[in-house]
Amino acid sequence: KILVVGSINMDLVTYTSKTPKIGETVLGKTFSQIPGGKGANQAVAMARLGADVSMIGRVGKDSFGEVLIEGMRRDGLKTDGIEEVEGVSTGIASIVVDDSAHNSIIVVPGANFEIDEADLERHRKMYEESDIVVHQLETPLNVVEASLKLAKDLGKTTILNPAPAKELSDEMIANVDYLIPNETELELLSGMDVRDEEDVLKAAKVLMNKGVEKLVVTLGSKGAIYIDGNETKKVNAYKVDAVDTTAAGDSFIGGLATALANGKNFEEAMEFAARVGAITVTRRGAQTSLPRLEEVENFGGR
Ligand code: ADP
Repeated sequence: KILVVGSINMDLVTYTSKTPKIGETVLGKTFSQIPGGKGANQAVAMARLGADVSMIGRVGKDSFGEVLIEGMRRDGLKTDGIEEVEGVSTGIASIVVDDSAHNSIIVVPGANFEIDEADLERHRKMYEESDIVVHQLETPLNVVEASLKLAKDLGKTTILNPAPAKELSDEMIANVDYLIPNETELELLSGMDVRDEEDVLKAAKVLMNKGVEKLVVTLGSKGAIYIDGNETKKVNAYKVDAVDTTAAGDSFIGGLATALANGKNFEEAMEFAARVGAITVTRRGAQTSLPRLEEVENFGGR
């Protein structure tokens, strides 16, 4: 069983030939509302892959909140831990994508920043019933810290995807079993430039010295690397025609946690996650691009 504590957003995506300058109005091409938010993306990825997954989070009492909760339910996610709060909007990301695929994004965290430590205690039972508890950094840092501590005190396996990148305290790191950054997040956390695999290993050493025990670094089309005190394992990415890498990392983490919860060993779990990530980048949007188990099983070749 998996518990995800994290963000829930509606992505408002506008495609336009040209991003307007300040004071300018342009005609856009298309618009879509796509469920997103790193927490929800990871939880939905797991649910579609067949995991038994619950989520703790918050949305506003508004139409986006309703649509998002309904969608998550349809995907088989347990939403009892998601509360609707008054006086603040559901989290949104306003995204503008131009013809050369460059994007500009405004995120309004809204209800995601209203989650507090009391929410976690209220849902203590969900922690007790879980094997793995998964976190990102789109909710208040003190809540992530408290959740990691609660999960660890109960003897659970904890995962932290440190995205968007923020500095982490040593106490926080001490409660993380698997830290899963991408290259940019690894750079911020280690204070080093990361250009190639050798740099990844050097940056990993810096993090290990800060108390990180198990590290998985995702490297986009270059795959992912697992590093702990004793060994290093690399899984290559699958060769696909990538059209939109939104939620690649989220789907990879969803795949990894699902496989681990199903008792797979780490190498198998990384391999499964790489398939999930590869399928996700062949489609546009966040939750619209997350595959179901059947698709992952039928996905061929490297
Ligand atoms: P994030 O979205 O957090 O930046 P990454 O871009 O590192 O995450 O992607 C996570 C994983 O998704 C990678 O380790 C890889 O397995 C898969 N992936 C990402 N981009 C591609 C791609 N272009 N082709 C195939 N697999 C990809």
